[in-house]
Amino acid sequence: MSLQIARGREAKPPLRSVRRTTDARPQLREATEANAIAATAPVAVLAKKTALRFPVNPDTRAFYKEFYPGTSTVEWNDWRWQMRTRIRTLDELGRIFRLSEDEYAAVARHKGSLPVGITPYYASLMGRDDPSEPLRRTHITTGGEYIRTPGEDNDPLGEDHDTVAPGIVHRYPDRVLFLTTGTCSTYCRYCTRARVVGNPGGEYQFSIRQWEQALAYLEAHTEVRDVLLSGGDPLTIGDDKLDWLLTRLRAIRHIEFLRIGTKIPMVLPQRITKDLVAILKKHHPLWMSIHATHPNELTDETTESTARLADAGIPLGSQTVLMKGINDDIGVMKPLMQGLLKRRVRPYYLYQCDPISGSAHFRTTVEKGLEIVEGLRGHTTGYATPIFAVDAPGGGGKIQLAPDFVVGRDGDDLLLKNFEGGIYRYPDPGGTLGKGKGKLKLAAE
Ligand code: SF4
Repeated sequence: MSLQIARGREAKPPLRSVRRTTDARPQLREATEANAIAATAPVAVLAKKTALRFPVNPDTRAFYKEFYPGTSTVEWNDWRWQMRTRIRTLDELGRIFRLSEDEYAAVARHKGSLPVGITPYYASLMGRDDPSEPLRRTHITTGGEYIRTPGEDNDPLGEDHDTVAPGIVHRYPDRVLFLTTGTCSTYCRYCTRARVVGNPGGEYQFSIRQWEQALAYLEAHTEVRDVLLSGGDPLTIGDDKLDWLLTRLRAIRHIEFLRIGTKIPMVLPQRITKDLVAILKKHHPLWMSIHATHPNELTDETTESTARLADAGIPLGSQTVLMKGINDDIGVMKPLMQGLLKRRVRPYYLYQCDPISGSAHFRTTVEKGLEIVEGLRGHTTGYATPIFAVDAPGGGGKIQLAPDFVVGRDGDDLLLKNFEGGIYRYPDPGGTLGKGKGKLKLAAE
């Protein structure tokens, strides 16, 4: 089958649970949205079990007292409660946000994948009266989503084309992307996988049966040494199932390295429970790429979620999508990168927004990304400067871009520009770099 994020018509997920087998695997059910939410325990039991000690920042506390009166802190800090109580309808949105006409009409019109879904916690960080507030813009549908402009595509990175087994996108020689679930805790309006997420009965489906086929592919392909688990968000998968999947992956001897791509530590930090961390810790080397958007996400709660992960020895990197009017400003990006670093999350990638259908209102120019990197490099800690990349439409993979600090050549001297714009010579006999760019007059000359 050419499309391997198994399309519904070709590979229906099992309707019943996979039965427990003699190897003491946990009972596994379909990796569907309904399952992720329904795999819950009564709140009272959870309260006893984990005590759910987690910080609640003052603004969030005021928010939940106002909009979720009667909710205990134990419930609020229960990630399952947050998942079950996600804001998903116009009525719920209208209860919390003063919706613009555009938002109201756009949400009402929406059908299919990438529904509205916002955890109450994440909603507490958003502007309730201002539709232009950055986090709100990234999560409440607007009319721009229905305008398709040239070059946009539902699968802009050609992932379906490179899919070789259910959920396995094998594009690079020694590593694969493993799409494990279609569920996220929140749905980002600019999502590259808008076609895949939040639509359990739709075209893309995920199930344990498909995971087994994906695992069989990985077992057979000894060149794969690195697996990036993504989705959807893999951390929406319940503890037992996630442990089972990681254990199976770890049992494949040629897989040296696992990575999890997730937005959960920023949008549902309560999911980073001590139980989850203990599971993740069993499967080292395991790295994590955290999707971060804006410094408003850097709260007491995300300080705690990232600290728990870092304390478990999980190397943390960030990935950020550059978006117009949201974070395409050095005054926004610098505190985000510095704040992540302070939380032991190394800024890793800054992505040019993919040309997903209906994304023109989010996309800014590539020059803007270069300008931001130039504004970081040398002006703050090197570790706080991410790689800027365009993921090539059609499946070309990530292409890294960097501001050009080579300004020319003068004989054997290479002429370089520093972060303050000063021009310096570097003796480079035999080199040709910079030839043809001309000879600039040096500041000192
Ligand atoms: S969390 Fe990731 S996969 Fe889910 S909607 Fe956001 S960008 Fe898409």
